[in-house]
Amino acid sequence: MHLSERLNRLAPSATLAMSQKSAELKAQGIDIINMSVGEPDFNTPDHVKAAAKQAIDDNWSRYSPVPGYPALREAICHKLRTENGLCYEPSQIVVGNGAKQAVCNVILAIVDSGDEVIIPAPYWVSYPQMVLMADGTPVFVEATIEQDFKITPAQLEAAITPRTRALILCSPSNPTGSVYSAEELEALAVVLRRHPEVIVIADEIYEHINYVGAHASIASCEGMKERTAVINGVSKAYAMTGWRIGFVAAPADLAKGVNKLQGQYTSGPCSVSQMAATEAFAADQACVEEMRQAFLRRKNLIVGLAREIPGFEVNDPAGAFYLFPRISSYFGKTDGKRTIHTSTDFALYLLEEAHVAAVGGDAFGSPECFRMSYATSDENIVEAMRRIKEACAKLH
Ligand code: PMP
Ligand code: GLU
Repeated sequence: MHLSERLNRLAPSATLAMSQKSAELKAQGIDIINMSVGEPDFNTPDHVKAAAKQAIDDNWSRYSPVPGYPALREAICHKLRTENGLCYEPSQIVVGNGAKQAVCNVILAIVDSGDEVIIPAPYWVSYPQMVLMADGTPVFVEATIEQDFKITPAQLEAAITPRTRALILCSPSNPTGSVYSAEELEALAVVLRRHPEVIVIADEIYEHINYVGAHASIASCEGMKERTAVINGVSKAYAMTGWRIGFVAAPADLAKGVNKLQGQYTSGPCSVSQMAATEAFAADQACVEEMRQAFLRRKNLIVGLAREIPGFEVNDPAGAFYLFPRISSYFGKTDGKRTIHTSTDFALYLLEEAHVAAVGGDAFGSPECFRMSYATSDENIVEAMRRIKEACAKLH
């Protein structure tokens, strides 16, 4: 079978692959603690589920408009206005199959062959792959744990070339949990204002899982909204990963382009999910805060336990639900059977020896670290960290 060049240059999603592997081992009866894939362990709130059931009974069963139902786009505009201070028209919103499609839509809409897209590393696994899908060139800017995994304005300036088309900024970040403050975003905006042709893709899917106060969007900085595509959705804030609803809020031309693109390959997303998402955005937001509190408690728990493991260097994440310790001190060590050369070796060692599924940092552009999702119960966190500590003690 001939497969396209475009497909051949893509790597499969490492997060989904590890999750699959852990599900297979679980099915064999092995007691795996899955900290690989990043998704809330909570159930979708009851009022959201009720709205979906009602939508089915009311026969919301036909094609929706490609960019989503007007009521959903109104609810999103209301959310952006009241929570983020950003004013958009419904025509500037395109709802897609998750934030994942929203990011990919924007990349496909703006990147031409050979265009460069700046991606701060560590990055979410899918960004570089999406850029490759669009025949673009990912340009990585490395942010180490010493700089709390955030890029500096000088690093951004140095990475921009005449071919730079876009910057993808994820805050709160997957995989590091780092959050850019309003001041840090403004400092990046100072650089970007010198390069008006660079578009910003601001992935704010973890907006509400923030432990340091108000979320800041780079679209709020002077002159930036006109060239920023704000990405968000319901997956993380409302524990709705399977419903597949995300959106982009963008300048009118870009929204129109994304609409055209989406109309040719997926159409509007699931009608029932859109009705559920409308309820999620429009109803009382108490459930979001309840889940945030739980994530905060778990974050404190896992950071404390991870810092007790020799050889782990741990930042204190300000958001999202991931811990991204540096574990390169284990490289070259062995338990007598296996030798750890890379962070993926380390993650596989933990899977086999500790029965804890995590993801090596290689896939996130940070080969010295590995990622654990702590969107799981306190008991699982305590037990996972106990097992990891024990497994690490066997490495010499
Ligand atoms: N962006 C980031 C940074 C993510 O971690 C994820 C993971 N799900 C997504 C986008 C995609 O989310 P969705 O489920 O809405 O497609
Ligand atoms: N965003 C989640 C993660 O990073 C979900 C998996 C994915 O879509 O890659 O684990």
